[in-house]
Amino acid sequence: KDDGVPGRVRVAVRLRPRNAEEVVSDADFADCVELQPELKRLKLRKNNWDTDTYEFDEVLTESASQKRVYEVVAKPVVESVLEGYNGTVMAYGQTGTGKTFTLGQLGEEDTSDRGIMVRSMEDILADISPDTDSVSVSYLQLYMENIQDLLDPTNDNIHIVEDPKTGDVSLPGATLVEIKDQQTFLELLKLGETHRVAANTKLNTESSRSHAILMVHVRKSVVGSEDHLSGENGETSHLMKPYKPMLRKSKLVVVDLAGSERIHKSGSEGHMLEEAKSINLSLSALGKCINALAENSAHIPIRDSKLTRLLRDSFGGSARTSLIVTIGPSPRHRGETASTILFGQRAM
Ligand code: ADP
Ligand code: MG
Repeated sequence: KDDGVPGRVRVAVRLRPRNAEEVVSDADFADCVELQPELKRLKLRKNNWDTDTYEFDEVLTESASQKRVYEVVAKPVVESVLEGYNGTVMAYGQTGTGKTFTLGQLGEEDTSDRGIMVRSMEDILADISPDTDSVSVSYLQLYMENIQDLLDPTNDNIHIVEDPKTGDVSLPGATLVEIKDQQTFLELLKLGETHRVAANTKLNTESSRSHAILMVHVRKSVVGSEDHLSGENGETSHLMKPYKPMLRKSKLVVVDLAGSERIHKSGSEGHMLEEAKSINLSLSALGKCINALAENSAHIPIRDSKLTRLLRDSFGGSARTSLIVTIGPSPRHRGETASTILFGQRAM
């Protein structure tokens, strides 16, 4: 396995512990999966006799701590962002399997519960120099191919601008807030969540039907290039080319994806059907892009959805990407669990 190679997507699977309902109602059933974390394997029960076995980069059991999940899934991405590369951490899975818990948990009551967003910011703030560097964030919701600003609810139609030369993606309309300390960041995440609930009430939808996207922009002041510093006639070249600190930009994107459950069950019509189509469009576009990366394909179909267009510069190339697929233990959702596992497998 080419661990840590930029461009390749690292895929982890995380099992949510049984919830109260599952403990009661599924008491007589075995979990539909069996995890072998040391072997990085997951077995999915097909029936009483047969299982299918899958391998992942990491297998996180129901007792894996938030700290461990951060270290395994996100920390390598955060470290590369601090070195100047872009990076993405995404959670994919059925609603109720722990995507938001994994990424967005604030952990204000119990700090051991803090999720990936909060832990990433902590590591970023610890690394940067407050005098010369800066961190700023945008927080967005992508719903029905429309980007809304979670930091400013009046801002509900944000456009993606792509630099045709560099491929860099920017969102000139999105609110960008500079973060100096963790408390400001926590307040901002709470504000974003409040706006998300309000926006979704207004649209008569649920948070699980949209993608939440946190963008963390890091600007670090770095000393000029090495050849400049170690030139043969160093002093002269310094005089000719006065020392200029260079601002190195990178960004971390954390994506809490819409629930992956299929709602093209019969009965889905009108608005629900449009919603379902839109979610299927973006998740399948994402899947295709990740597959293309995994297969080293020259063509990454980035243009197929807003989600993949947004991720264009945070994906493949020199960028690091981690995908965490979340599943539940209930045999009742075996079908959804199987389809989530398959999404993760195709990404590797
Ligand atoms: P999703 O965002 O995928 O819909 P949530 O993150 O909201 O799922 O999780 C559903 C419920 O399960 C929440 O109450 C959450 O706190 C709980 N939960 C999820 N994962 C874990 C975990 N690893 N440990 C404890 N509780 C969890
Ligand atoms: Mg959620």
